[in-house]
Amino acid sequence: MKFQDIKSLSQEELRLFLLDNGHKPYRAEQIRTWVFKQKMQTYEGLNVPAELCHLLESSFSIKSLREELKMQSADGTIKWLYKTPDNLPVETVMIPTETRASVCVSTQSGCAMGCVFCRTGSMKLNRSLEAGEILEQIINVMQIKQVTNVIFMGMGEPLMNLEAVHRACVCLHDQKTFSMGKGRLTISTSGIVPKIAELLERGTPCQLAVSLVAADNETRGSLMPVNKTWDLTELLKAIDNYMEKSGEWVTLEYILIKDKTCTKTAAKNLIRIVKPRRCKVNAIVLNDNENPELQAPSEQEVNEFLNFVRAESVQINIRNPRGRDILAACGQLSNNSLSKVAV
Ligand code: SAH
Ligand code: SF4
Repeated sequence: MKFQDIKSLSQEELRLFLLDNGHKPYRAEQIRTWVFKQKMQTYEGLNVPAELCHLLESSFSIKSLREELKMQSADGTIKWLYKTPDNLPVETVMIPTETRASVCVSTQSGCAMGCVFCRTGSMKLNRSLEAGEILEQIINVMQIKQVTNVIFMGMGEPLMNLEAVHRACVCLHDQKTFSMGKGRLTISTSGIVPKIAELLERGTPCQLAVSLVAADNETRGSLMPVNKTWDLTELLKAIDNYMEKSGEWVTLEYILIKDKTCTKTAAKNLIRIVKPRRCKVNAIVLNDNENPELQAPSEQEVNEFLNFVRAESVQINIRNPRGRDILAACGQLSNNSLSKVAV
């Protein structure tokens, strides 16, 4: 695999690269400290022999993303639009709360999964991002804000780019670099069943969230093409296996859509799935999307749904939407130029 960005290499790969080119391998740690701890985005000032500096410069970029636009929501959420060296859009969102700041990173430019309620889905896939391009989104936010959590919920399907996502998580978790506990790193998937097993095998340091979205095959299949490849039975089996082997909880993300997933029948289906499992449910009211057939339910409908589910002692939290005014909320990242408020 050829890397463009130095941040995509593991410590071991960087050591080997140095050895192969006649340099001292201990320089790997020095370079990684420069890039990940000091968060430098130029080789200038890196205290290594000039020859090595030239080699690094000619082999790997140290900054891949170009900032095109920065927008700030009325609620404090910030969204950045970047372009990759091959001119593809990538968006990153920073969501501040009183006690923390989460960065929502993109793992691909666009997405191939085609969920009908998601703006990223209607963009189609440009390409997967390198680990370095994923890490750079976080490093950029860290220049202005202390980051407590990273959620892999921006553009793209993380498990369709598992190698790079795994590398990024390992680096974020590494005590010598970012030292973020696995509880602070969350990967969200639309349900790529074989990759859920692979995530477990690799021992990727992260928590897992699954976009359940709907709790019966007919509704889920009409909203998410992935359900036709791996249906709910297979998905739930993969989730059960993940929870059993890892001993970790899996969060289910459920989208409230008028007349589809916010009805009494839908609530009963959800209860049937969640009650016997160690899962928490995050409900998200459908954000504005490009599909006129999909609408958000009324506040009353949402409350009735929540009360019905909670009466069965199922833990369900409603996620407060952030950054809707700048199209920074879930499923809204699509390089869309509408309502951009530059700051
Ligand atoms: N591709 C991954 C992660 C990115 S999507 C996944 O699908 O899980 C992040 C979350 O946004 C997912 O839970 C998805 O179901 C949700 N989402 C997408 N479009 C949405 C919309 N219009 N309203 C609310 N949530 C949406
Ligand atoms: Fe892709 Fe996730 Fe959007 Fe589906 S919801 S199209 S998997 S980004």
